[in-house]
Amino acid sequence: MSRFWSPVVHKLEPYVPGEQPKIANLTKLNTNENPYGPSPKVLEAIRLATSNTLRLYPDPNAAELKQAIADYHQVTPNQVFVGNGSDEVLAHVFHAFFQHDAPLLFPDITYSFYPVYCQLYQIDYQTIPLTDEFEINVNDYCRDNGGIIFPNPNAPTSRLLDLEEIEALLQKNTDSVVVIDEAYIDFGGQTAIVLVDKYPNLLITQTLSKSRSLAGMRIGFAVGHPDLIAGLERIKDSFNSYPLDSLAITAGVAAFEDKAYFEKTCQKVISSRKWVTAELKSLGFTVLPSGANFVFATHPDNDAAKLATGLRKEGVIVRHFNKDKIDQYLRITIGNTEENQQLLAVMDTLL
Ligand SMILES: *Cc1c(COP(=O)(O)O)cnc(C)c1O
Repeated sequence: MSRFWSPVVHKLEPYVPGEQPKIANLTKLNTNENPYGPSPKVLEAIRLATSNTLRLYPDPNAAELKQAIADYHQVTPNQVFVGNGSDEVLAHVFHAFFQHDAPLLFPDITYSFYPVYCQLYQIDYQTIPLTDEFEINVNDYCRDNGGIIFPNPNAPTSRLLDLEEIEALLQKNTDSVVVIDEAYIDFGGQTAIVLVDKYPNLLITQTLSKSRSLAGMRIGFAVGHPDLIAGLERIKDSFNSYPLDSLAITAGVAAFEDKAYFEKTCQKVISSRKWVTAELKSLGFTVLPSGANFVFATHPDNDAAKLATGLRKEGVIVRHFNKDKIDQYLRITIGNTEENQQLLAVMDTLL
């Protein structure tokens, strides 16, 4: 607390990111990072870009990266916005589209950054309960609103919604912006980017942090109607002209170009997810059906917080949310084969 702070700062309850411990040899399954490194072609591109040209400012429009994303998703560059991680893109989205009289709607259990942005930008919001099976029922969102946002797959529940259901929501909700946060869509879901030409109020956000293994580079983007993108550009150019540095732009382009590596590593995560799910079930866990690079699991006879502490003592860290309705669940990132085996071996000794 300081008397020098602006009034709004006193009231903020900032987001708390998952721990990034300094201890070596931990099996880190707590922040949904990709166990496989970035494509070797990405690393090589970064090396080549690490030169005297770093004295120059990067392209404020990151045109090359927008073009690479547009090519990959078969849209035009004026339908693409890029930012310093999708968290920054989301912050601009809240600022640009959700400050209305009617409340923003999002699920009661979802990405915990959303209420933080609402507080920062003083946006009124209403949470919509998930079903008892932790599903989003799109009919529950058909009410007066100043915007709708949810992740698909949802976090931390991992549950995936079909494209048909998202389209059903868009058919009924045409007067406010609908944002689908697709941070995990590449792990088996179908992107709603294919719907942007049909619905001018639809915006999709994605990140290179998870499926493209570049969390450390901070690259996120949004795809939608050029008018929505223009609104985001106005916010961005009133905030920071250069959110992506030259190395990030280069890395992002190379990541979209190496489709083979991307597909291979996503497939490995998906097959490991199946294995981890089956093994956890055989240990007595209930595991929600996952469309992400993590699973959300609960055990009928073991307290989740105690399991998380027990795992940590053995060098395995997972995420536990001390929050109503989900405090008996663990969110476990899918690791590489060794990490997954270690998780299950330690879990077996704790039960
Ligand atoms: C990880 C995550 C993000 C943020 O991704 P960055 O691009 O690393 O900022 C956004 N939304 C959800 C649901 C996430 O899980």
